[in-house]
Amino acid sequence: VMASMAHLQKEKLRLQEELLELQEKLAAQENNELSLSLQLQGQVETLKEKLLEQAQEINRLRSELGGTDAEKHRDLLAAENERLRQEMKACEGELQELRELQRQQQAPCRDCPHLQENAGLQEQLSQLQREAEETRAKLVELDLEVQQKTNRLAEVELRLKDSLAERAEEEERLSRRLRDSQETIASLKSQPQQIKYIIKTVEVESAKAKQALCETQSRNQYLQEQVGMQKQVLKEMEQQLQRSQKTEAQLRAQIMMYESELERAHGQMLEEMQAMEEEKNRAIEEAFSRAQVEMKAVHENLAGVRTNLLTLQPALRTLTHDYNNLKRQVRDFPQLLQETLRSARAEISQAIEEVHSTNRELLRKYRRELQLRKKCHNELVRLKGNIRVFGRVRPITKEDGEGPEAANAVTFDADDDAVLYLLHKGKQVSFELDKVFPPQASQEEVFQEVQALVTSCIDGYNVCIFAYGQTGAGKTYTMEGTAANPGINQRALQLLFSEVRGKAADWDYTITVSAAEIYNEALRDLLGKEPQEKLEIKLCPDGSGQLYVPGLTELRVQSVEDINKVFEFGHIKRVTECTNLNEHSSRSHALLIVTVRGLDRSTGLRTTGKLNLVDLAGSERVGRSGAEGSRLREAQHINKSLSALGDVIYALRSRQGHVPFRNSKLTYLLQDSLSGDSKTLMMVQVSPAEKNTSETLCSLKFAERVRSVELGPVSRKAELGSWPSQEHLEGDSPGSAAPPGRGHASPSPGQLSSRSASIRRKLQTSG
Ligand code: ADP
Ligand code: ADP
Ligand code: MG
Repeated sequence: VMASMAHLQKEKLRLQEELLELQEKLAAQENNELSLSLQLQGQVETLKEKLLEQAQEINRLRSELGGTDAEKHRDLLAAENERLRQEMKACEGELQELRELQRQQQAPCRDCPHLQENAGLQEQLSQLQREAEETRAKLVELDLEVQQKTNRLAEVELRLKDSLAERAEEEERLSRRLRDSQETIASLKSQPQQIKYIIKTVEVESAKAKQALCETQSRNQYLQEQVGMQKQVLKEMEQQLQRSQKTEAQLRAQIMMYESELERAHGQMLEEMQAMEEEKNRAIEEAFSRAQVEMKAVHENLAGVRTNLLTLQPALRTLTHDYNNLKRQVRDFPQLLQETLRSARAEISQAIEEVHSTNRELLRKYRRELQLRKKCHNELVRLKGNIRVFGRVRPITKEDGEGPEAANAVTFDADDDAVLYLLHKGKQVSFELDKVFPPQASQEEVFQEVQALVTSCIDGYNVCIFAYGQTGAGKTYTMEGTAANPGINQRALQLLFSEVRGKAADWDYTITVSAAEIYNEALRDLLGKEPQEKLEIKLCPDGSGQLYVPGLTELRVQSVEDINKVFEFGHIKRVTECTNLNEHSSRSHALLIVTVRGLDRSTGLRTTGKLNLVDLAGSERVGRSGAEGSRLREAQHINKSLSALGDVIYALRSRQGHVPFRNSKLTYLLQDSLSGDSKTLMMVQVSPAEKNTSETLCSLKFAERVRSVELGPVSRKAELGSWPSQEHLEGDSPGSAAPPGRGHASPSPGQLSSRSASIRRKLQTSG
């Protein structure tokens, strides 16, 4: 028994050792599992890193995937992704619930380290799954890992089964032994008490072993339960895994779909891009063709322009050439100009010099010519006669009355304007003067004949113009005229003014006028302050032999207005008396003395010309006027002075050595203007009226007497030589009706009779 007891003890110890061994094995297994989980954790870490990298890669790719349409697609995908994520989150929630359930299931075996490990693993797994869901690319790997883990779990199970089998064997063995032992015990029972006791102790001891066995068995059962539970959990987990794989597959399919969509979108995009590219190409082509056409046009233009340019180039060249030439010329111009100016100046000065000399020469010639002209003029005037006698017949006026007394007694020769016929006492007497103005002759016409005389006054000649005739014959009319129809006085002055103005360039002229009258042989100043004062005619004290009248007013006139004033002034002072012959009969001689003084600025030559315009007193005979007393004395004075004038003119024309200027105040005063180169015009005024014929006859006789001696020295001599015989031949027939003849110098026999008639007339008048 003891031995068996010892053996049992030993057995028990061995069993204990085996238990310990088993426990150790379990611990080792647990350790193994821990290391496995650690390894898994490390793998999870690496996976996480890779995931991060992938995410980064995706981000990078996303950032790379630019473009408008692609971006839109990307955004759409992102939205879809978000939606999927949310779905995944929902899945996660479900998973969480499942896990919660699991945890509740696991709660009873919380103390088991395997379970804890499993829970941790599951958590990691869920994490992995979550991450795997987020990252479709790494799911396969995760799958693989899961597969590995399942494999390992299977291994663990296998091992667990092995250990269970071993334990079953052990139990079998133990139960066999127990049976053996029981048999032994039964055999022993039949043996003594001691043995019984031993058996009992052994039995007790075996009970203890039995209890331990029971415990071990219960524990084993528990473990088995655990393993079963584990298996269930694993199954669930596998299911979950399957589900998640399914979801993953779904997700993958979705992803694939998205990818395909993306691809499609990409394709579309590409297509669009291609279309756009094509369009672009087309547009480019179009633009190109258009541009080519335009280019062609431009080329053509260019060609035109080029040809233009080609044609323009020579022009430009010539232009530039011209321009350069011009520039050069312009540059040289000042010098050239100066040179030209210098030469021009020299030329000009030379020309001026030449002109000067020519001028001097011309001046010399001009002076010579002037002298010559003067000489010629003098000669001409001398030939023509310095003294000319004109006749003027006034028209019949109202004053002449009516009836036979007012009949016209004067007729004219149509062919000869120097002849007039007077019907006197039934006989026609012819008179020949230098010119005869008929009644219709105008003031203008009369002045036309006079104006040459007036002009010569400017040249420095003295001129006398007398109006002679009976009162009322038109003396005043001829000399002064009317306001509307001015006479010689005003016209002469006007002419002088205009002539002087015309010569103003070379000459300085001053024109002065004096007005005087001689009444009863007394000279009176008509412009003076004291008109009653009698003026004396005196010789110039300078010994020049010139006469002058001290105290005679001389007024400078410059315009027609001035002259008019002078005339007006003179008129007021003029003494006029009424006779029974004519209301306006003037009994005094009226003189207008115009002095023209000239200075030739270029030569310094001085000239002085005097124009004496004399309105003589009436020439009617005293007996006829019926005057008495003072009137008679007046008439006598007038007759005396008029005959003295006739004498002087006669003496002058016949070039007698002695001219009786002193016989009257008038001739004495006009001595300068009657002698020498002076020119005298006697305007004999006659009335055509029948009643005036005797006075007319007297006036015409006077005129002819004055005129008839106008002859050159030779002819004059000849005439003078033949004077006595002519006188003798035709002594008693005055005013014969013989035709007038004027050719004095011609000795032709045809003209001899006319000359003898002229001489006859002369003899009559002088006689
Ligand atoms: P006188 O001065 O000789 O005495 P007037 O000159 O006073 O004469 O003339 C007398 C009148 O005759 C005036 O009324 C004048 O107007 C007029 N008379 C003189 N001559 C002419 C003429 N040629 N034409 C017109 N009327 C004239
Ligand atoms: P004077 O000037 O010297 O005083 P005038 O010439 O007046 O002299 O002459 C005086 C007078 O003598 C005048 O009446 C004039 O007619 C007259 N007489 C002078 N010389 C002659 C002459 N040669 N023949 C005629 N009469 C003369
Ligand atoms: Mg009169």
